[in-house]
Amino acid sequence: MNILILGSGGREHAMAWAVLQNPKCDRLIVAPGNAGIADIAECAALDILDGAAVAAFADEESIDFVIVGPEAPLAAGVTDALIAAGVAVFGPSAAAARLEASKAFTKEICDAVGAPTAAWGRFDDAGAARRWMADRPLPIVVKADGLAAGKGVTVAATLAEAEAALDDIFGGMHGRAEVVIEEFLHGEEASFFCLVDGDTILPIGTAQDHKRLGEGDTGPNTGGMGAYSPAPVMTPQVERRALEEIVRPTMAEMVRRGTPFRGVLFVGLMIEGGVPSLVEYNVRFGDPECQCLMMRLGGQALDLMLACAEGRLAEARVNWADDHAICVVLAAEGYPGAARRGTAIRGLESLPRDSGHMVFHAGTARTDGVVVADGGRVLGVAARADTLAAARDGAYAMVDGIDWPGGFCRRDIGWRAL
Ligand code: ATP
Repeated sequence: MNILILGSGGREHAMAWAVLQNPKCDRLIVAPGNAGIADIAECAALDILDGAAVAAFADEESIDFVIVGPEAPLAAGVTDALIAAGVAVFGPSAAAARLEASKAFTKEICDAVGAPTAAWGRFDDAGAARRWMADRPLPIVVKADGLAAGKGVTVAATLAEAEAALDDIFGGMHGRAEVVIEEFLHGEEASFFCLVDGDTILPIGTAQDHKRLGEGDTGPNTGGMGAYSPAPVMTPQVERRALEEIVRPTMAEMVRRGTPFRGVLFVGLMIEGGVPSLVEYNVRFGDPECQCLMMRLGGQALDLMLACAEGRLAEARVNWADDHAICVVLAAEGYPGAARRGTAIRGLESLPRDSGHMVFHAGTARTDGVVVADGGRVLGVAARADTLAAARDGAYAMVDGIDWPGGFCRRDIGWRAL
């Protein structure tokens, strides 16, 4: 079959790499793709937020199946346009993508079904928001509603910090001036991934990422400096509770409202004393968690995504190997501020490339045949092994084989589990 993946990050490189291992894939196009993806698949320039353009492209190229990587095309209704054009697609409708696009929507659903989540309030004026916060415990979490690429959330240690965040939001920093304020949840965070086709839910793995820039989880927030899978904090018991108390009631409510969810649900959890609470839903794979999941699933990822898109999840099974995967992100100097572009990255050709080792590109370009940095997070060095320690050693051995003076990484990815 002919397959089109939408996106241009390390996540999409990992999905492309997994899809190509499946003999069902005859031809793979990634739009827009990146320099690393161009080594393994065709890349095409395409406005992936324009549903009509994507549907027309799918028709011209005889595409049988589209996999949507990032959230923006989902929220923009690209899935709806493809379904209307009769093209099979992995990714939820715009209506179901509200589970990520609107934090207030998700919190309302949690309240409607009694799913455990932090106490919250939604405000469109600063005065009411201030009054709600005034007698709550600190820290307190202030969130701009809507998609803010992870930059709309402030965990405020003091009331002054929370007020400053409110001023930013009501000053129009994130577009719409609407805020969700939440009580702070204590515990350990983990990500739980489920494929969903309406009411069938198939767990496909757990992961933990490292959002902070510095070792020991210190410093500013980033898009993610590394991840590993599985996450030991997600014991079978915690997973069962998350499924029964959070995911299943939410998905049933989406069906009841006439907007069933179909795609991958990324369940962001806070776990304390074995009890999970919902922090957030995302309606696509995380980056870099996806790199770990794809390392572990390999070619069956395509079968699972197809079963999900075609409503056959009830008969699908994950073929688990008892393995562990890790992904170490290499970023360009300056990240998460203004990252330095154009520095040469050498040594990639001599690294192993097999089912247990892969370098996924996130922000690279090729200049005169040389791979150069072209973004903040630039590479994801991923390894899979029987133990997390072996996967970590494999990944850092690859990192040490990369000659890139303009880049850096955290040396402690996986520390919590190790
Ligand atoms: P991202 O895109 O980075 O995942 P987001 O903008 O979708 O973020 P959230 O996931 O809701 O926003 O919040 C970002 C981070 O802030 C969470 O991963 C978590 O670490 C922290 N956080 C959010 N809400 C809470 C809460 N109620 N209690 C404790 N920490 C929280």
